[in-house]
Amino acid sequence: MSDIIHLLPDSVANQIAAGEVIQRPASVLKELVENSIDAGASHIQILIKDAGRTLIQVVDNGKGMSETDARMAFERHATSKIKSADDLFSLTTMGFRGEALASIAAVAQVELRSRRTDDELGVMVEIAGTRIFKQEMIQCDSGTTFQVKNLFFNVPARRRFLKSDNVEKSHILNEFYRIALVNSNVAFSFFDGDDEIFQLPASNHKVRIENIFGKNAKKRWQQQLLTIETTTNLARIYGYVGKPEYAQKSAIQYFFVNGRYMRHPYFHKAVLLAYNQMIQASESPNYFIYFDVDPQTIDVNIHPTKTEIKFENEQAIWSILSASVKESLGKFNIVPSIDFDQEGSLEMPSAIQPENVRPPQTNFNPNYNPFGTNMYKRPVLDWENLYGGFEKKEESIESAPDWEPEMDVPDNIGFGTDEQQQNSESVETHTENFQYKKRYIITGLKSGMLMIDQHRAHIRILFDLLMSQIENHKALSQQVLFPEVLELNADDALIFEQLLPDLKLHGFDFETSDNFNYSVKGVPDLLGTGSVIDLLLTMLDNAKTTGGELTDGMHESISLSLAEVSAIKIGQKLTNEEMSDLIDRLFACSNHNFTPNGKKIMTILTHEEIEKRF
Ligand code: ADP
Ligand code: MG
Repeated sequence: MSDIIHLLPDSVANQIAAGEVIQRPASVLKELVENSIDAGASHIQILIKDAGRTLIQVVDNGKGMSETDARMAFERHATSKIKSADDLFSLTTMGFRGEALASIAAVAQVELRSRRTDDELGVMVEIAGTRIFKQEMIQCDSGTTFQVKNLFFNVPARRRFLKSDNVEKSHILNEFYRIALVNSNVAFSFFDGDDEIFQLPASNHKVRIENIFGKNAKKRWQQQLLTIETTTNLARIYGYVGKPEYAQKSAIQYFFVNGRYMRHPYFHKAVLLAYNQMIQASESPNYFIYFDVDPQTIDVNIHPTKTEIKFENEQAIWSILSASVKESLGKFNIVPSIDFDQEGSLEMPSAIQPENVRPPQTNFNPNYNPFGTNMYKRPVLDWENLYGGFEKKEESIESAPDWEPEMDVPDNIGFGTDEQQQNSESVETHTENFQYKKRYIITGLKSGMLMIDQHRAHIRILFDLLMSQIENHKALSQQVLFPEVLELNADDALIFEQLLPDLKLHGFDFETSDNFNYSVKGVPDLLGTGSVIDLLLTMLDNAKTTGGELTDGMHESISLSLAEVSAIKIGQKLTNEEMSDLIDRLFACSNHNFTPNGKKIMTILTHEEIEKRF
């Protein structure tokens, strides 16, 4: 029998290897732009078409290539950046593996034009599926231009695995941010077809951050960034961290080391620790943190697409980092004073109230009807009657059972049921309600004392109302006289577009213009005076956390955001009647124990518990 093992032809071997490096259009963009940075470019122009499927073009004014180098560049393991394994421990370039161009050429049609400044003529190479089709001397600008066309033209399976244009574009933008945020001294332009997405002048890190994420909402970004800066003999750590009140569910978080983006879950914890007690558990702060360390002390991941980096002095740097962030939060007076009275009050904006921070938006208007003018009517149904066979309130406290086991209490959230069942009790009517700390409504129950969080209660009420309006297609809209404009950057706009149909169902109305600007012409009737823009940004943020799956549960998410901003606030004084109304309305909701996102609305202190205390 003859031997059966043979070597694969280069083209096949390269295609297989390419799978590691080039997974999607975004990988091509990353490799090309990193090469331009390594070539010392001060200006890089990017053009993509069809989310990078048909074209990714990168033009730089870097040092260019010689005729031989232009050809060599496409060989696997061909690199000008390292010579020996030792060099791996003193890396100053983004690339070093020498496999990106070989990989790209294995799965796409590539055209390269390049000229070194001192050369009279440049060189042009056309290569596709590892085969060189053309190589000639040409006249061209100094620098390098790569055109990568029809990615995966020869690998249909990979092509089919690509996601929608929006998803691929957002991958591309993410890769772009990782490079642009740390190379702020390099000017970038970015076009998607004919649309200009970015025109970023050379600047410093802070301006770059604002130019990318603030786009037109620059003020919001200028207000939120605090500087951090620490230099020790182990590392220089500098950059910007967001003020706690700008924390969000899908926060914008970047670490860079020696000019390279990295993921570092351990350092991430150090940053979070500095914010301890300042932000809600579900939220995370924005940050852009840059480390400069001796290249000898880090181990850059050898895997082409991994971004984790190992530090020799990890623990020490961890502590320096956390202290540095803490110091900066402290310097700006962000750290709340720990005071027994404020315990558990972190969701109150007033807990974080230094002079140079946005004032909390709790406007108090004594005439304000917390239930909206045309929305609230005292329900015809007395909530107690919802539970058939329940005690009448005239009966004496003693004879009333503390809890009726046959009561059918909805348990749609799945939290511990004991308390839920207890809570489904009758409130003694004609009782005076008491408002504690302008936050909790306290009222008597047959079996004890009921405490209700007014804000959360109202969220539940409004949420149920909104959901039923949506189901009945009856969302009410009101036109606004002076439309505010929502200004987004490109990738946020992609996500926002997907929200639009649902937002319209809820009563929003937008006029869109170029440049991702949305003028808010109509808003849900329910919406009070708060900033529509902040609300929309919150919704966008929520949508981002749900990833690509934007359609399912979108109504819930929008209704919840709307309910949250429209609900009566903590710190708002309520009259006795308003409190009674709120309680009635709350108990008319099928799940009055928890908010739609599972926060506890009420709790009971039982007679026994009270008696035990005396
Ligand atoms: P690596 O970046 O790991 O060295 P690549 O395959 O990305 O490997 O590139 C191979 C070589 O081609 C680089 O080492 C560099 O010498 C050259 N090269 C690639 N892109 C450029 C560019 N834009 N300008 C100048 N030289 C380039
Ligand atoms: Mg490279």
